[in-house]
Amino acid sequence: MGFIKKITQEEARRCPQCAVATCLPGCPLGIDIPGFIRLLREGETAQALERIKKENPFPAICGRICPAPCEQACVFHADGEPIAIRGLERFAADFGAGKAEKPSLAPRGKKVAIIGSGPAGMSAAYYLAKMNLSVTIFEAAHQPGGLLRYAVPELRLPQKVLDEQFAQLKLLGVEVQTDVVFGRTMMIDELFMQGFSAVLLATGAGQPKFSDLPGSSLIGVYYDVEFLERLQTVNKEAPLPAARRQMIPGPKTVVVGRGAAAFDAARLSLRLGSATQVVLNGFEEQAGVSHDILNETREEGIEVHSMHALEIVDDGNGFVSGVKCRELDEPPIFLEAQTVIIANGQQPNGFLKGMTSMEKVFACGSAVTAAGSVVDAIAGGKAAAKKIVQYLGQT
Ligand SMILES: Cc1cc2nc3c(=O)[nH]c(=O)nc-3n(C[C@H](O)[C@H](O)[C@H](O)COP(=O)(O)OP(=O)(O)OC[C@H]3O[C@@H](n4cnc5c(N)ncnc54)[C@H](O)[C@@H]3O)c2cc1C
Ligand code: SF4
Repeated sequence: MGFIKKITQEEARRCPQCAVATCLPGCPLGIDIPGFIRLLREGETAQALERIKKENPFPAICGRICPAPCEQACVFHADGEPIAIRGLERFAADFGAGKAEKPSLAPRGKKVAIIGSGPAGMSAAYYLAKMNLSVTIFEAAHQPGGLLRYAVPELRLPQKVLDEQFAQLKLLGVEVQTDVVFGRTMMIDELFMQGFSAVLLATGAGQPKFSDLPGSSLIGVYYDVEFLERLQTVNKEAPLPAARRQMIPGPKTVVVGRGAAAFDAARLSLRLGSATQVVLNGFEEQAGVSHDILNETREEGIEVHSMHALEIVDDGNGFVSGVKCRELDEPPIFLEAQTVIIANGQQPNGFLKGMTSMEKVFACGSAVTAAGSVVDAIAGGKAAAKKIVQYLGQT
């Protein structure tokens, strides 16, 4: 749930409006944080949103799921009470709207192709379209949005919010073509033959980092994104009892790993009726999510252990029977499970290697960084758009 107006005003008033704002360099997008908070304090919600949108085209997304590095840079962070900048951004996004992007009627300039419709591709498309270029996004999946569509669950980012961002891009003249697999159903030469002057690869990091944990190839073991994507696709498209391929966890699940994906997988597994535990492979400080998410996860009834997984155990027939794990010098314990979800992070799916040295071909987002957050991807798309505009100006 977002903030109500009263809480927003109180929180905005708590901001000391520091002469040298330490939060500012914390935001990869360079949002004028004190400026938009001041406007919220004055009740100017629409103006606050305009101020944010000068640097961030998608505040409704960041206001919900940004890891908010700005809050870690806030002067009150050391006291454990940083200003809730992300929550304030969300309020501005949800209640300051009213002015939709104007459909662009100006004749379009050179054609740019963007491969991949995650936040990096979305951001690049926004800025390139604003510069009046003719932008087409090609996306392999049925629906646009990247991991925000297929992995981040509805409970944290409603699909409706994502749809609204694409409606905004459409108004700006961005075309989105789905079900196009670059490198398979469409090759780079075809794009140049169709008159595209530049190609931006924003294909993300959709492949799991495979685990060397013993037992990780047993039946009943999944990787986090695989698990989440199947819930969003197979389960939705073929509801029970029709589908055999549906993702249905066993009565007990153990998630091994950390980061947002681990906690999303755990919470969805619980919602599917499986008694779920998380083994962090480290301490809570290394969980890779905010305290809010840790607390919410526990409140829902999921145990989160600061233990290390030693082995996924075979039931003797090739199926998972549980996870052997250990806390520091304690003796190993056995957590029973029929489903194990490994959250080991993601990596780009190889085909990018070497491509960025090609003339007219650019790359951004987690395809380049291999990791990172939504705000990093948006910042990467923005920077790539600037480089493309510069390049096209010279050609
Ligand atoms: C479960 C989960 C939860 C997360 N939660 C958070 C969070 O709370 N906060 C946060 O900041 N970050 C979170 N992240 C990370 C965040 O989703 C990523 O940092 C971000 O999506 C990266 O954006 P991107 O545009 O670079 O790539 P992606 O979002 O991966 O998008 C890449 C797109 O390219 C498409 N593509 C790939 N290959 C091709 C091809 N050959 N042809 C055409 N299209 C192609 C893919 O289908 C995909 O749509 C989470 C990630 C996961 C997995
Ligand atoms: S986009 Fe993220 S880092 Fe930037 S101000 Fe918003 S919450 Fe903070």
